[in-house]
Amino acid sequence: MPPAITSDIVVAYSQCPRKAYLLLFSPEKGKPHEYIQILGQQRSTHQERYLDRLQHTHADVQPYSLENLRTGSKMLINAHLQVDGLAADCGVLTRVAGTSTFGKYSYEPSIFVGTYSIGNAHKLELSFVAYVLERLQSRSPATGRIIGVNGTSHPVKLDHQSKALRPLLEPLHEWPMADSPTPPPIVLNKHCPLCPFQHLCQAQAEQEDNLSLLDGVTARVMRQYEKKGIFTVKQLSYLFKPRKPKKRSRKPPSVTHKVELQALAIREQKIYLQELPTLSRQPVELFVDMEGIPDRGVYYLIGLLVCQPDTTAYYAFWADTDQDERHMWQQFVEKVAQYPEGPIYHYGSYEPRAVAQLAKRYATDAESATKRLVNVHRHIYGKVYFPVWSNRLKDLGNFLGAQWTSPQASGLQSLVWRHQWEHTQDETYRAILVTYNKEDCYALKVLLEELSKIALSADLLSAVDFADKRKQPTTERSEEIHSQVGTILKFAHFDYDKKRAST
Ligand code: SF4
Repeated sequence: MPPAITSDIVVAYSQCPRKAYLLLFSPEKGKPHEYIQILGQQRSTHQERYLDRLQHTHADVQPYSLENLRTGSKMLINAHLQVDGLAADCGVLTRVAGTSTFGKYSYEPSIFVGTYSIGNAHKLELSFVAYVLERLQSRSPATGRIIGVNGTSHPVKLDHQSKALRPLLEPLHEWPMADSPTPPPIVLNKHCPLCPFQHLCQAQAEQEDNLSLLDGVTARVMRQYEKKGIFTVKQLSYLFKPRKPKKRSRKPPSVTHKVELQALAIREQKIYLQELPTLSRQPVELFVDMEGIPDRGVYYLIGLLVCQPDTTAYYAFWADTDQDERHMWQQFVEKVAQYPEGPIYHYGSYEPRAVAQLAKRYATDAESATKRLVNVHRHIYGKVYFPVWSNRLKDLGNFLGAQWTSPQASGLQSLVWRHQWEHTQDETYRAILVTYNKEDCYALKVLLEELSKIALSADLLSAVDFADKRKQPTTERSEEIHSQVGTILKFAHFDYDKKRAST
């Protein structure tokens, strides 16, 4: 019997078709990331409590069964809907007016999620539940609800959502019909860190030198290169063409990231410069890294590395609870105010957004801090190409010798550690988080030092080259050739001079 198409499969297809394929047909199921497991636990605990309350506060709340569906109970809970090879779980079915297969009433679905905020994947899941329900009751539900872990019920108009669902269902219906369906190609994407097949795909991608190993190469970009016969990062590296000098223009050239140049940097294991970094270093410099929980919109750790000519000190401002966030923020603001001249380096857009949010939330004048924020990523993007897959701080830091105590350290893993800390109050998790944050600050410093070194002496560094005007080759063989050519030229001149002298 072909495997049933479930909500998980549909959502997986929207994240990555290959993930849906592997969930359906691969004997190897992988292991969900710890964070996904946490969300799953939160969802079921919350659903259980909510339904328990519902049964105590409302009349005619029945467990789901076809029998109860036909008798028209007011609410049906823990529904497992199944029809025509489709299966969907639904927390609550609520009876509403409107004729259906069952009589003069029909049902609308409500699902539970393990997060506070509602995302597109949740809406897609609800839309699939509605689609299965529609097949059962021969009536399309107009509205559904998504219930977050804080109990907030978010109404969703379902007719808008079905547009996103239909294109996903077509291939999913076809796969089980085919004798041996072809697995979709590997296209590494932003969902991979959460996917149970990450190790499998990463290993295979590296083995085949897959284009999507490079950050910025999406499925669409891959298809474009494949049309040109480019299938690997190595092949891509030969496509890089230096820019032609342009006539002077008033407009500054737009900065774009060139994946061909990134590929070249990897092939030649060199740092390529499209533009020299322009950083103005100061005697006192600050490095900031902030940790938060995006789902709840809160922050719990601000790490600050203060570098002065003779000392370097790291400060960790920590919030035990969401209520402590204000105090943590004030401590940070006071500390940065002590160094009014120091630029505050950060990496990416997370920190400026967090600073703006916290300043607004606690009505703080953070202009002095905001004005001093310097995004180091801006000095790299489209300008400096390190021989790494992506410009993520972890990739660059690892290349430059920065170190992280925990091999799994990442933003995603930090959510797991914070969750463990909140639930156990075990100081080990707090220590792990502070160490991770401190190491990110130090990695940023290492990166800044490297950019300064490049800015000062790119001409002299053998591991650095200019993308548009390469340096003269300096390998042993080429040096030998250069010296031989030099000798030939010397003798040629000598011979010429001799001949001139004798005429
Ligand atoms: S690891 Fe990435 S590419 Fe592989 S199945 Fe999962 S999401 Fe798709």
